[in-house]
Amino acid sequence: MAWFKKTRKPIKATTKESRVPEGLWVKCPSCGRAIYNKDLVESVKVCEKCGHHFRMTAAERLQLLFDGGTWSEHDAGLKSTDPLKFTDTKPYRSRLENTIKATGRNDAVVIGTGTLDGIPTVIASMEYSFIGGSMGVVVGEKITRAAEQALAMRAPFIIVSCSGGARMMEGALSLMQMAKISAALGRLDRAGLPFLSILTDPTTGGVTASFAMLGDLNIAEPKALIGFAGPRVIEQTIRQKLPEGFQRAEFLIEKGFLDLVVDRREMKATIARSLRVMMGLPPAPAEPAAPPAAAEPATVAES
Ligand SMILES: [Zn+2]
Repeated sequence: MAWFKKTRKPIKATTKESRVPEGLWVKCPSCGRAIYNKDLVESVKVCEKCGHHFRMTAAERLQLLFDGGTWSEHDAGLKSTDPLKFTDTKPYRSRLENTIKATGRNDAVVIGTGTLDGIPTVIASMEYSFIGGSMGVVVGEKITRAAEQALAMRAPFIIVSCSGGARMMEGALSLMQMAKISAALGRLDRAGLPFLSILTDPTTGGVTASFAMLGDLNIAEPKALIGFAGPRVIEQTIRQKLPEGFQRAEFLIEKGFLDLVVDRREMKATIARSLRVMMGLPPAPAEPAAPPAAAEPATVAES
């Protein structure tokens, strides 16, 4: 017989609601500071205390880079057809449908044309919330078309990467996108048009192994995770402990993998300056670039 017996029911949790509405404050994962959501949007999602860069959506990224936060979107309707009829923990087709519903995007990249500091530019921005920003046939096709559009416009091309790599649910077809995009970038190169690769946290796998490392300038955001295989896989393969900060932007620039590590708040100005130098354009007029209009919704025109 037991000495003690629990006869009373456990104490119920209070159902009194918190007076702070959900999602009004965000905790900085780096310094622990609570940041008011509105302030975070105003500081382009960078912690003002420690400089931690929060992840941005594809649209926020385009809003930050394009003048006035406006651009025209291209090929928004392209969707994957599940060519391999793939199933892992659930069928790829239903995973796609759910993600499309949740994100309001048809795949993991948004293509926009507009002006950046007055320079007509094509930008491809990857959406991490769409199956980890993975590159399947749609991402490959859209980025290739975007490069061709830049070629037709004689405009510079920028890809903002934020991706876990190739989309395994599309198997070898997703790997073929690496070659396809690289070939399109080769055509841009022969035409003498600049291609800038912006690497944000995270940029890994087949994306790093192809276009993300092919920029005339490879520019990363601070502390971004950039690599091919994950650190655990590498440690198991080489049977050695990896150094501190391995695969982070600051480590990679020291080893010559990157050209620049740029704070997001300086990103647009840095890109504009680089493009002007590379394209032999005169310096921008004296007026400062307008900050991103956070409160106004971006005007997106379908083409
Ligand atoms: Zn912080």
